[in-house]
Amino acid sequence: MASQERRTVMTVTGPIPVDALGRTLMHEHLLVGAPGWEFDIGAGPSFGEMVERCVDRIEELKSAGYASLVDPCPIDMARDVNLMREVSSRAGFHIVCATGFYHGEIGAASHWRFRAMLDPDTPKRIAELLIKEITEGVGETGVRAGIIKTATGHLVTPYETMMLAATAQASLATNTPITTHTEGVHGDLQLDNLCGAGVGAADVVVGHTCGSKDPVYQRALAERGAFVGFDRFGFAPANTDENRADALVALVRAGFGHRIVVSHDCVLCYRGVDHLRPERRDFMLFERTISPMLRERGLTAEEVERLLVDNPRRFFQGAYSP
Ligand SMILES: [Zn+2]
Repeated sequence: MASQERRTVMTVTGPIPVDALGRTLMHEHLLVGAPGWEFDIGAGPSFGEMVERCVDRIEELKSAGYASLVDPCPIDMARDVNLMREVSSRAGFHIVCATGFYHGEIGAASHWRFRAMLDPDTPKRIAELLIKEITEGVGETGVRAGIIKTATGHLVTPYETMMLAATAQASLATNTPITTHTEGVHGDLQLDNLCGAGVGAADVVVGHTCGSKDPVYQRALAERGAFVGFDRFGFAPANTDENRADALVALVRAGFGHRIVVSHDCVLCYRGVDHLRPERRDFMLFERTISPMLRERGLTAEEVERLLVDNPRRFFQGAYSP
């Protein structure tokens, strides 16, 4: 099923025309922390320090011609929409924030699992919360989510299936697209659940598809009409950038260049004791290193630009036909 066409994208400072997105990184984070971070030694940088750091990194991106990023931090991973709004205003850069929850291995599953034991309406309540964040805003901030994040871990558990159902319900009720976290597997099961509930595949970015080393898996997702996220460039544990670049070019050559979005999954600030390597804060890796790698492998400048501009725009626009 195809969504209705969307003419605007909701950013943390309000709606913008989809054409105003420009060059867009589809999966980056200003701030991340796993539930329980508040019990760690030290909370990480102050609000002011985080703003400074994020604005610095975004200024660099802006000077390279980028205009927008999606920060799909789920509700339960220390999402801070006030930080996003402040950084967006200070830097003059579009940021799209998400509603939705992380997977059961790391996210705030306890609350919802406990609730679901007592209240059969829990999936409905979760959908209502997502819809509220899309239509009215996050808490009292007035900042509205422009995308729904959902996630699966190494297994797709009943908790995650419940979240996928709530995600589909909220997406259909508000005509809002979806971006997912995967561990490089089970994107097919995510689509089975979301599309089975009526969501169009083109309204889904299957995140971290570049974490898979299986070209059949990657291609099958694109063939179903979903967008595939090559959104972890620079993330060493999951795969090498050489493998990612090879796989991306293979997908373009197979005719799926219109289904790929790119990013790094950087984390600029971290709640709790900061263990992140400096290269996980490099928003410029795609521009500086990956884009030339793709050109060396034969992509034209236009084919690379399409990954950054046309594909994010078409994803947010929806009502997409091949
Ligand atoms: Zn992420």
